[in-house]
Amino acid sequence: MQAIILLGAPGAGKGTVAEDLKRQIGIEHISTGDMLREAIRAGSPVGLEAKAFMEKGELVPDDVIIRLVRERLLAGGSDAWYMFDGFPRNVHQAELLDAMLPECGGALTHVFLLEVPRDLIIRRISNRRVCRQCGAVYNLIGMRPKVENVCDLCGGEVYQRPDDNEATVNNRLDVFNRETAPLVEYYRRKGLFVQIDSSDRLDTEKAILQHLGRA
Ligand code: ADP
Ligand code: ZN
Repeated sequence: MQAIILLGAPGAGKGTVAEDLKRQIGIEHISTGDMLREAIRAGSPVGLEAKAFMEKGELVPDDVIIRLVRERLLAGGSDAWYMFDGFPRNVHQAELLDAMLPECGGALTHVFLLEVPRDLIIRRISNRRVCRQCGAVYNLIGMRPKVENVCDLCGGEVYQRPDDNEATVNNRLDVFNRETAPLVEYYRRKGLFVQIDSSDRLDTEKAILQHLGRA
């Protein structure tokens, strides 16, 4: 099993890029945010525990996240190819992932940081809409669904995430700078780190594909 990681602030485009690459090269997209939203929708114990943290833009406790990821990895085959989006989100989660990968017969090959200026992040997030059913990401500037509020891919309802409001976004950016940004150094030391200018979606995807030898 092989894995890559997409790092980046909220609104950097991790989810959009991951879904595009999944369609193009068949790499599986593991979004812990999508998994948590699904758990909330299903009313599961994980969902009940995660909800309050997510509404405030705080990180959900590491043990909850690790349980979700472990279950997902163990369900996949040994030749599976994964792209993590929104995980790991702090050094502790990165260490737990390092410990978990050999257990699943896997290895990390690349860690991509998607870099976007802060004003673009705020603009993207306030215009972001997502499919409640499949997690597809839309944007009112440039990437609207063909039919208003209806997902192009699955027909599900397209809505605005409750944590995409200004106060919560600011907190999520602070949490990113404090908790997640140190992962850059962590993966740089392991020689896995690649920085990508992510202002433009297609350029971002092209750059990632080149690094993966799939261009
Ligand atoms: P974004 O990257 O735009 O912030 P996500 O969907 O990745 O959106 O995350 C939304 C929320 O879900 C986060 O603010 C956090 O509360 C929770 N979350 C997602 N992934 C993790 C994780 N790996 N560790 C802790 N909390 C997480
Ligand atoms: Zn959908």
